[in-house]
Amino acid sequence: MKKETIMFEGKPVVKNQEFTVTIEGLTAEGAGVAKLDGYTLFVKDAIPGDVARIAITKTKKQYGFARLVEVLEPSKDRVEPACPVAKQCGGCQLQHLSYEAQLLYKQQKIADCLTRIGGFSEIPMEEIMGMEEPYHYRNKAQYPVGVDKDGKLITGFYAGRSHTIIDSSHCGIQAKVNDAILPIVKAFMQEYGISSYDESNHKGLVRHILTRVGYVTKEVMVCLVINGNQLPQGEKLVEALQQIPGITSITINCNKEKTNRILGDYCKTLWGQDYITDYIGECKYQISPLSFYQVNPVQTKKLYETALEYAGLTGDEIVWDLYCGIGTISLFLAQKAKQIYGVEIVPQAIADAKENAKINGITNADFFVGAAEEVLPEKYQQSNGAMAADVVVVDPPRKGCDQALLETVLKMAPQRIVYVSCDPATLARDLKYLCENGYGLQRVRGCDMFAHSYHVETVCLLK
Ligand code: SAH
Repeated sequence: MKKETIMFEGKPVVKNQEFTVTIEGLTAEGAGVAKLDGYTLFVKDAIPGDVARIAITKTKKQYGFARLVEVLEPSKDRVEPACPVAKQCGGCQLQHLSYEAQLLYKQQKIADCLTRIGGFSEIPMEEIMGMEEPYHYRNKAQYPVGVDKDGKLITGFYAGRSHTIIDSSHCGIQAKVNDAILPIVKAFMQEYGISSYDESNHKGLVRHILTRVGYVTKEVMVCLVINGNQLPQGEKLVEALQQIPGITSITINCNKEKTNRILGDYCKTLWGQDYITDYIGECKYQISPLSFYQVNPVQTKKLYETALEYAGLTGDEIVWDLYCGIGTISLFLAQKAKQIYGVEIVPQAIADAKENAKINGITNADFFVGAAEEVLPEKYQQSNGAMAADVVVVDPPRKGCDQALLETVLKMAPQRIVYVSCDPATLARDLKYLCENGYGLQRVRGCDMFAHSYHVETVCLLK
């Protein structure tokens, strides 16, 4: 294919050429947007209002990419990032944007998707739910372990779009207890000559350090993901980790595959319980290393309370919680409903959901394993409509709901649909379909589950 030449002021634009621009927008992935004579450039680490020196890194026909060389005049929303490695680390994309501006950006992102993709002209948008303290909010971390070019043991997070580990023992969004755990694991590995995993040749032992923390209970889990079946001198690690306040569970997870997947299927407990417990509101949940569990407990509570409010339950309703995971939303709603049915594709998650119902004394929740788009129509038909929903809650993964599922929901014709979404684009697509088929969008509210990243969660009510 012939390479496109992009022209500026009569001359071709070439790689590494520098320009001074004003940043005008922010993409859905958090990159700054600048224009060169109408030609669009995406500039990582730049934010609207910055006047900046940028250098071209790549040009395509419709748009190009540039790197931020220097901020000449900072945007009024620019702040000093909390982490010294914020620019290199791929974990956060927006630490240099003030938190208030992050919230406005996320709210706007939801509105843009609903307008552009959903075709909605009036959006019943409520104020986005932000965090009071948007740091150290995560209850789960997965640190890759490796060595730097001098062979020194390092842990941290990957750089954006790569598997290069940015060495850092402190993370601005993770639980503070991790700052004490990482040095203990590293010292243990050094003292006993335990190798780190090298994905280029599939050799070495320790791949990741997984930690989980109970926000309410303060229980701590440490799980070493290893390329093997056993951790030599594991008892020494157990001994050293005893000094961590709240330590409840020390496990290994075996992952011997050549894969980007972090966790393998098999866990072994070295010490303590094989799970930790935590609460969201009054509900208690058991969380094992392999379970999906929302990572921001403070915001999860707000999200579920909003879902509960939107569901408008009086105690007489049959509620379907589709894509229910370990039943977190189901159990949250169960106290206010007649009957809950949860559907989830991962069998282990349904086992956890049943167990969680039991430990909370909840008897009006039933759970089914399977694809929601198959289970829902099947149960609806088998029961001759007796299992028809009064309220449907969906919380799908990023790709949104399957068309077959939405069709069955339309057939069931619930009074209310509560849509919880982690991707405003697929949310807008699905809402468009539901609203073309009889439903009306009544309420929309963003919830910031992932401060300093470009992600945003949305709750919607349809009637
Ligand atoms: N509602 C839960 C989990 C939401 S995450 C919570 O708040 O914790 C989305 C869930 O959908 C994941 O647990 C994933 O395993 C599940 N999932 C993905 N595809 C599915 C499908 N086709 N049918 C049912 N569940 C599915």
